[in-house]
Amino acid sequence: MDFEVGSTRIYNCGICNVDTPHSIKGHIGETYGIICTNCSSGALVNELDLRIYQLKWEEELREILDSLVEQSFGCDEEN
Ligand SMILES: [Zn+2]
Repeated sequence: MDFEVGSTRIYNCGICNVDTPHSIKGHIGETYGIICTNCSSGALVNELDLRIYQLKWEEELREILDSLVEQSFGCDEEN
């Protein structure tokens, strides 16, 4: 699976020093050119690094969703 040009992926920006959405500008083989949507600085990253970040974020998102579901179930039991 390739990352679509024009789509946005979370990645760590070396300039902002935080995880920010990066716009995919293109790729040569497995090296992707991405632009931080916060500070507009460009970076070259390996496809694998982007994938790892994506998985990490999906994992965190799932944990947040799971805890929200648990909380709503908890409320139902009390009613
Ligand atoms: Zn940035």
